Amino acid sequence: MSDDSGVKSEVTLDPKFNYEPCNGDFVMRKSTLQTFMYCQRYFYYAFIRKMPPVEDTSSGTPAQLGTDFHAESSEFYTKVNLDVPMTYNYLRSLLPFDTQTDAWYDNFAAFELGRYNDIVMKKLDPALYFMPLANELYIEIPYQRVAGTIDRLWRLEDGRTMIQDIKTGNVVKNKTALRRELAFYCHLATEDHETMEKFGPFGVISAYSPRDNSFWIEDLTPRTLEAMYGWWELVDYETRSRNNTEQWLRNPFGFCENCGYSHPCWVEGETTLARQVPVTPDDEKTNTTTGWESKATKDEEWRR
Ligand code: SF4
Repeated sequence: MSDDSGVKSEVTLDPKFNYEPCNGDFVMRKSTLQTFMYCQRYFYYAFIRKMPPVEDTSSGTPAQLGTDFHAESSEFYTKVNLDVPMTYNYLRSLLPFDTQTDAWYDNFAAFELGRYNDIVMKKLDPALYFMPLANELYIEIPYQRVAGTIDRLWRLEDGRTMIQDIKTGNVVKNKTALRRELAFYCHLATEDHETMEKFGPFGVISAYSPRDNSFWIEDLTPRTLEAMYGWWELVDYETRSRNNTEQWLRNPFGFCENCGYSHPCWVEGETTLARQVPVTPDDEKTNTTTGWESKATKDEEWRR
């Protein structure tokens, strides 16, 4: 869909959607929605009963490596000097060495060089198109009690802005969930007046994974946006209508044997949850939990 200027119109939000704040006093985030879809039992303990998860301070965990990559790749753009000849060695020198994830940084430098060359070949200004419009952009909409951090925003040639998620886990395979995650960010960016005015219009979603150097991009469709709102409304409805423990634990995935962990997240008498939220912002636990893939597939079937 384009207007006269040739610029595709931005995503239209569904006016029928109920933007009332969700029940309880938690803020709706992408990980809140994902956690509900992953395990309602965990969701109940973590978000309704507010049990804190056990602290994981160890370095070198998949989650920590992902967090490091997000920070380093974001910092990278503050170090790039567009006046020096753009070579692989130059770009790679701006990223860390001797880490467990050297291969990720190698891939990222090569990807960025390819992107730079493409921009120059199209005679576009690298200052406008090579550099992100925003990095790690935190948005909160208090009256909707919704918040989140968008990894990156990019200017596109057609005037729209692309929302990008950096994925260091393996979930890029699950395109349906990924589309909905990005639709959630599109909602945040579009509904926040300051972000919309400064960076909009939105409507293009993408993901990059340094693990296998893969890049994925597409237009956000109304169907995906609707599915995301359905996801949101389900969580909203369930958190409003369930009033006691029995109602929360009587659910299709209420038995801990279903998720693949050998120990439940919480046992009566304990004061903390046995692990961090099963769905981290980057889904890093997918690498260490054998039960995830089969459970994710089950959830996928359930959502249809
Ligand atoms: S052990 Fe698995 S099924 Fe049980 S609460 Fe935790 S994530 Fe859910």
